[in-house]
Amino acid sequence: MHGYIAPLRLRLDGDALVSNWRWLAAMSGGAACGAAIKANGYGLGAVEVMTRLLRAGCRDFFVSNWGEAAAVEHLLADGISLSVLHGVRQEDMAQALGSRARPVLCTPEQVARWRAAGGGRCDVMIDTGMNRLGLDWRGDVVFAVEGLEMATLLSHLASADEDTMLNAAQLDRFRQIRIRVSAPRYSLANSAGICLGTDFGFDLTRPGLALYGGIPSPIAAQHIRPVVQPQAQILQRRRVLAGDAIGYNATHVAEKDLEIAVLNLGYADGYLRGFSGRGAACRDGARLPVLGRVSMDLVAVDVSARPDVGEGEWLDIAYDLGEASAASGLSQYELITGLGARYDRLWI
Ligand SMILES: *Cc1c(COP(=O)(O)O)cnc(C)c1O
Repeated sequence: MHGYIAPLRLRLDGDALVSNWRWLAAMSGGAACGAAIKANGYGLGAVEVMTRLLRAGCRDFFVSNWGEAAAVEHLLADGISLSVLHGVRQEDMAQALGSRARPVLCTPEQVARWRAAGGGRCDVMIDTGMNRLGLDWRGDVVFAVEGLEMATLLSHLASADEDTMLNAAQLDRFRQIRIRVSAPRYSLANSAGICLGTDFGFDLTRPGLALYGGIPSPIAAQHIRPVVQPQAQILQRRRVLAGDAIGYNATHVAEKDLEIAVLNLGYADGYLRGFSGRGAACRDGARLPVLGRVSMDLVAVDVSARPDVGEGEWLDIAYDLGEASAASGLSQYELITGLGARYDRLWI
């Protein structure tokens, strides 16, 4: 499908991405600021994101698994590090041993596997209260990591986007670990963790969401710029008469005569049904509300107020992450990582 122009696209703002990284780097205090580029760069495109952040000076990247590592490994050079957050399964060992990326060992089994293979440089994840991945902070971590060639010791905050005692508790536990376990670098904070203050920075921070325009904390709102703007093309402009129903299950019945635009966008594109009757498109600042249910591949918006828009034209989809999250019930993370493969991704 060379040369194919998709009927839906993401306009991606490379300057905003870099500006967000710079703000997060400044907020990280003395710590280096890395970047989480898992899930294909949160849906934007990992190669494109990493290329831009490398140019801006970012040196430390994080992906989830070895498939994601393989997709960006060609961008690695001396002084650039790529850590694989889920560590190594048995199935990953051949790739991992030959890779310039390194695993974040997360379980005693992974540590044993890596040690037995003489795996070399690695990171280690300590669980300090989330009970997801990582060696238990209450265990004998000193013994558990003995002999590993550790680059970074990590932990991850469970509730950094909330004002809760757990943040201070995890910070304290991580500090205690740091006293006992010696590593070249320590890393705790994600985007929201950076906003908790430089105490959380240690040597390296790992923002994801905020790089891509997500607002992890009210203090970021004035500084983080939007990066992702979905746009969809109009397939049909259509007249709807008073009393007519629109879309599946006839959930919207027109109270008066209307004009709608049917857009090439649906829940298969991550525009989930939570936007039914709640989302909107925009044109020159005018809000064009979604009418009825979002279909798999289509959605209708009210363009009665905009007689100028017709077939073939493009509309912005209202996607301010805070507002879209409130409207749809989806998290900001779900809103960007769900955007899917059918969009053309255009960097501006
Ligand atoms: C996803 C992830 C991050 C980035 O988190 P954001 O909330 O997107 O900033 C950092 N560290 C780990 C271990 C992660 O899984």
